[in-house]
Amino acid sequence: MSDRPPISLVELSAMDVGVLAGVGPRKLEGLRHLGITSLLDLLTHYPRRYIDRTREAQIRELSEGEEALVLGRVAAVSSRRVRGGRVIVVAELRDDSGSLRCTFFNQPWREKHLAKLSADDAGAEVAVFGRVEVFRGQRQMTNPVLDVIGAGPRARTGRIVAIYPQSDRARLSTWELGEWIAQVLRRSRDRGIDDPVPAEILDRHDLISREEAYAGIHAPTSMAHEVVARRRLVFDELFRLQLSLVRRKRQIERDALGIRHVVTASKGTDGPLDRAGRAGLVARYLDGLPHDLTAAQRRAVAEIGTDLASGVPMHRLLQGDVGSGKTVVAMATLLTAVQGGHQGALMAPTEVLAEQHAAGVSRQLGAVVIPDDGGSLLGERPLGVALLTNRTPAAERRRVLAGLADGSVDIVIGTHALIQEGVVFRSLGAVVIDEQHRFGVEQRAALRSANPDGTVPDVLVMTATPIPRTAAMTVYGDLDTTVLDELPPGRVPISTTWAHSPDQEDSAWQLVREQVAAGNRAYVVCPLVEDSPKLEVASAERTLERLAADELAGLSIGLLHGRMKASDKAEVMEAFRSGDLDVLVATTVIEVGVDVAEATVMVVLDADRFGMAQLHQLRGRVGRSDRPSWCVLVAHGDLTADAVARLQAMVASSDGFELAEVDLDLRGEGTVLGERQQGLSDLKLASLRHDRQWVEVARDEALRLVGDGGGLDAHPRLAEELDVLLAPEEEEFLLKS
Ligand code: ADP
Ligand code: MG
Repeated sequence: MSDRPPISLVELSAMDVGVLAGVGPRKLEGLRHLGITSLLDLLTHYPRRYIDRTREAQIRELSEGEEALVLGRVAAVSSRRVRGGRVIVVAELRDDSGSLRCTFFNQPWREKHLAKLSADDAGAEVAVFGRVEVFRGQRQMTNPVLDVIGAGPRARTGRIVAIYPQSDRARLSTWELGEWIAQVLRRSRDRGIDDPVPAEILDRHDLISREEAYAGIHAPTSMAHEVVARRRLVFDELFRLQLSLVRRKRQIERDALGIRHVVTASKGTDGPLDRAGRAGLVARYLDGLPHDLTAAQRRAVAEIGTDLASGVPMHRLLQGDVGSGKTVVAMATLLTAVQGGHQGALMAPTEVLAEQHAAGVSRQLGAVVIPDDGGSLLGERPLGVALLTNRTPAAERRRVLAGLADGSVDIVIGTHALIQEGVVFRSLGAVVIDEQHRFGVEQRAALRSANPDGTVPDVLVMTATPIPRTAAMTVYGDLDTTVLDELPPGRVPISTTWAHSPDQEDSAWQLVREQVAAGNRAYVVCPLVEDSPKLEVASAERTLERLAADELAGLSIGLLHGRMKASDKAEVMEAFRSGDLDVLVATTVIEVGVDVAEATVMVVLDADRFGMAQLHQLRGRVGRSDRPSWCVLVAHGDLTADAVARLQAMVASSDGFELAEVDLDLRGEGTVLGERQQGLSDLKLASLRHDRQWVEVARDEALRLVGDGGGLDAHPRLAEELDVLLAPEEEEFLLKS
């Protein structure tokens, strides 16, 4: 050991890979293609898989039925198309002892990839792992696991060999990468790798040292060794992310100038009920509702009220399942801002939704008058409610903008048109973002920018799609969370069925007819056409024609799709709402929020093409009253195992939170996180799916360490690591969200 202090990750991140023996200009170029420039990049280029050398076999020795691992070169590749349009790719793999036929079903991209490998003069090697079959004397494997190893002399040490992620352009072998990483580990052994995570945290969770962990993940002595190594590194990634989220949150709380809103007690909560004047606005609104608040709504309004009354800007996430009544909570929030003479803005993801919210607000609040601070003659004026979308006509838009600037518009509802140039508020007090994963981080930040007097508005983000707890902790880790975990009383559960044959589909249309005959209405959602709104519209039109001519002949059917003019959309929605239309054939524009109590049937065509969150949203369009309702998911024909699992889960559960967990299991974090995932580039090993428990551990430890006061002052090395290691875009993401 030398006298110098242990080497830190920050130091390693400042050292160029060019210092390593064997890394010249050409190799540097290859490493650059893998995104590796520093020693730290190399150290965190983690193996994709491991090969247990004791299981490596010569092709000639393979016997039928055994599972084996073979290293060899790709000698020939061919492909053919079989019935049903499926593609079969066949590759011949050779080692010194013989040849093995590898057949890949339904992986058409393999052909080009394998052809490139077989053309490689340097003799790139691959490893395949699978069960050996023998067919007419020829040894073969079907859909084996295949890893590219690359060319070069094989490292002959160690029982377990790491296989590194490759890229076609890098042209580096796994052996080379392994050798360079071994060099980094050897070099650091001298000084040791610094471990800034407090020992008591490591003890509490039985985590090994960093140095051991890096050695263990790259050169494990056993697979059990790899497991404990990975655990430590996963913790580090999640801990860094949580530390920065928590630190950022505390910083905002300390630095930003919030507005102390006038919060009055309201329906179902204790306290003075001053209904007169501005200050009674929320109470009047809640009293005017035809129903009591659910306990969850009361809790949410109270939690938000506490935030709004404080001088620290609110930054809160409201999670609630479809139909849990988030709108009421949103309105109470906006009206609280208005009570104190400020303005409120509600940003919705689609025009249909914005229009619907605006219509609802006008209906509920249209008659409300408030004292006019601008000093009109009567001293009173109606509450100013405006709608602003990209379809707002120019003259109206000018009027709305003027109203926002002079304060005569109290509540504005709109789409992202609200955050365009030229939209200036007199004093924006509260913002509600009805998110549905459709707003980017940028857009959210724009609404949070400061008022002329330097105050920033309070922000409530509503997710219409519940997300798993650990995902919320990660992607919304800088927000406080309120959960509406209760549906309003009297809801009859929606009965969901999966129609997996044409006969069963027929019964769905029968059900639609019965329901319409009973005075109810039905939605029919048309297949999603990825990346082509045009085709989607065409398919919706065809569906309508077919249904009108055949299954639903005689019923009054309307069409709704995203490419219609706003006024046409509004007209169709109104006709459906009023009952002039019995059936609404629609694309997914009805996914969000549309609220028609008489709609009791939802038929989703080609339901296997939708994600679970989407299906759950769609289903939430029915069952919005005390009438029994149905959701029929139509999907017959060839379905993937994943699709079947999704549909089964939909039938089995109507709890959005439960479905979100299933979705995370089935499809991984990408789909769950949506746009926010872009900020998670620091997570190389950790998975929100597999490492759920560690997300919670990291969150708890981060909260404990950052505490309420001094941030990371007591842990300067940890703080430095956060500053340097979180990718720049990561920091940016955290700052803006
Ligand atoms: P979300 O936006 O959470 O999906 P909404 O706010 O659209 O749900 O509310 C769904 C329906 O439930 C609406 O028709 C609304 O009027 C009604 N609703 C909301 N809160 C209550 C309540 N406490 N009691 C009864 N009905 C309610
Ligand atoms: Mg809603």
